[in-house]
Amino acid sequence: MRVFSLPMHTRFRGITVREGVLLEGEAGWGEWSPFLEYDAAVAEPWLRCAEEAAAGDWPDPVRASVPVNVTVPAVDAQRAHDVVRAGGCSTAKVKVAEPGQSPADDQARVEAVRDALGPGGRIRVDVNGLWSVEQALERLPVLDRAAGGLEYVEQPCASVEELAAVRRAVDVPVAADESIRRAADPYRVRDLEAADVAVLKVQPLGGVRACLRIAEDIGLPVVVSSALESSVGLAAGVALAAALPELPYACGLATAQLLAADTTADPLLPVDGELPVRVPPLDPAHPLATPDRVAHWEARLAEVRALRDARRGTSGDRR
Ligand SMILES: [Mg+2]
Repeated sequence: MRVFSLPMHTRFRGITVREGVLLEGEAGWGEWSPFLEYDAAVAEPWLRCAEEAAAGDWPDPVRASVPVNVTVPAVDAQRAHDVVRAGGCSTAKVKVAEPGQSPADDQARVEAVRDALGPGGRIRVDVNGLWSVEQALERLPVLDRAAGGLEYVEQPCASVEELAAVRRAVDVPVAADESIRRAADPYRVRDLEAADVAVLKVQPLGGVRACLRIAEDIGLPVVVSSALESSVGLAAGVALAAALPELPYACGLATAQLLAADTTADPLLPVDGELPVRVPPLDPAHPLATPDRVAHWEARLAEVRALRDARRGTSGDRR
């Protein structure tokens, strides 16, 4: 196993360095990079995804490239403009509701993104569940106007019930992210008619084949998004997006742009707004973690493997 440590261009999701593990299998490398605060139970599906990748156990693609969006962190308007211009995508996902920032900051950022994209581009916003229903009903019309029409709002509130309430009250389509990947039951989103779009991430949901099953059962259009993986890990998200029968929206897989270094010399970066369906080769010279961080990840991996084996033992699930 190799432990990578990659500096990022901008603070995103509270971190400035992305760490993770690369595991080698019969077919190549799989990435296991659960965020540091996740316990073993949460990190276990992420390991199934890495092992599936290393075993080369992915379904056949039905397309050769995947449309992607540029991701705009909660930066100021000028920087947001620059990120979109540099991103080379016609769809932008804009982070809003960052703690410590104001609704005016969000509005200015979305206006700058529209200016940078031009009239033909699409804008979605991601709230990460941080609004109340009341805040969503107040702020969404403002951002919808600032965007000249939002493609959708991702996870405006934390709970499935709140998502359903927002969806009933506004015209902007609602996408569910945390309500699927962190939920005990991802299908409550379907049962409560809480979303128009399902955001799926391969590591938290246990791999490409597990996500294909969820996509089929949930019955909603799917947007595949990254968990801020290195390019080796992003290839699993690309494999899912490539295998979905329908792919009506751009995917959130262009996040190698947020990293200042990568695990490959040939990162998965968009060309004309699309990622080619491929697996980038590992660069053995990628930035490695320090010995104390390697020890941390070794211990964490041992803990999660033990849990995985215990779960297999009790459920008989050898998937
Ligand atoms: Mg999200």
